[in-house]
Amino acid sequence: MHIVVCLKPVPNAQDIRINPETKTLDRKDAQNVINPPDLNALELALQLKDKHGAKVTVLSMCPPFGEPFLRECVAMGADDAILLSDRAFAGSDTYPTSYTLAAGVRAISALKQGEYKGSVPPPPTQPDGKPTPPNAPWTAGKVKEVFGPVDLVICGEETTDSSTGQTGPGIAEWNRWPQVTYIKDCKLVKPDGTPETGKVAAVPDYKIHCTQDLEGARSIWEAELPTVVTVNLGINTPRAPQLTRKIMATKQFELTYWTSNDLKDIDRTKLGLKGSPTVVGKILTIDVGGKDTQWIEAASPEAAAKELVDKLEAKGLLKGVL
Ligand SMILES: Cc1cc2nc3c(=O)[nH]c(=O)nc-3n(C[C@H](O)[C@H](O)[C@H](O)COP(=O)(O)OP(=O)(O)OC[C@H]3O[C@@H](n4cnc5c(N)ncnc54)[C@H](O)[C@@H]3O)c2cc1C
Repeated sequence: MHIVVCLKPVPNAQDIRINPETKTLDRKDAQNVINPPDLNALELALQLKDKHGAKVTVLSMCPPFGEPFLRECVAMGADDAILLSDRAFAGSDTYPTSYTLAAGVRAISALKQGEYKGSVPPPPTQPDGKPTPPNAPWTAGKVKEVFGPVDLVICGEETTDSSTGQTGPGIAEWNRWPQVTYIKDCKLVKPDGTPETGKVAAVPDYKIHCTQDLEGARSIWEAELPTVVTVNLGINTPRAPQLTRKIMATKQFELTYWTSNDLKDIDRTKLGLKGSPTVVGKILTIDVGGKDTQWIEAASPEAAAKELVDKLEAKGLLKGVL
């Protein structure tokens, strides 16, 4: 079983400020972190790995600054990490983001023995110490271990910076795979309908049962593999990296970079800024006004509740409710 976890580095929400003049997000002093629900996605994948012996590949589309985050995921237990990084991807809204990630998933699925080549970015400085020009050519990376067809893609429910929640469903749509969103858990089910409890190398005709939690409304969904799921924030506790894996991930692990040239069967007009239909027309700061706090002092909780209802009714806030 091969699982791909999609994750995105995002600015730490507490570090983001609004520029008072331009009214845009000021991210320059923000530290980047892995988007929090993506760590829950990785933990779910690692739990499936522990139980069924799955392979886990982490996949991210971002500039090379994302490399340490992917190495962190390898330290936590992921088997491989691929960074999709290319100027052609810059300025992507969710349409090209999901298009590019879906192509990345297909490229991972199509890998055959000895074909697993990535691209290596040019070093930041040339031998004479001068900075490498931005469009310097990338070189072919080494052949690596094979990872077979992808059975499951796990994404976070949404990011903390753009928060659209569209990327996971987009990956499913581009690849014509089923999708189950906002899940809190999933279980592997054998072709005869019984839960799989042991190790399993391949999962032909297997399905997954996902428990979806939509603001308290719980439902169970069955999906055929391969499928895409998105997980809710906080569904589990992401494990801490082991020291030995941390050393391996930092010093020995060979991270794979892919550019748009490593993706097959893509329409280049659907990549990056030119493939992005979103246009930001205007940014407004909404004045939510001051808070009007009133304290209700009453003889009993019932009397306090009644007074509260009377006050809300007097303001016309309960129209259509009572
Ligand atoms: C109105 C608007 C305008 C934008 N304009 C620009 C722009 O001009 N330039 C620009 O660079 N960006 C822009 N963005 C941001 C860009 O659209 C998003 O960063 C990107 O498309 C992912 O969308 P999201 O952050 O909403 O992810 P969501 O759909 O909320 O993410 C859900 C999950 O998908 C996965 N995921 C999301 N992004 C990635 C990724 N890159 N790699 C791997 N996994 C991922 C993660 O598992 C994540 O938890 C804009 C966003 C909006 C809403």
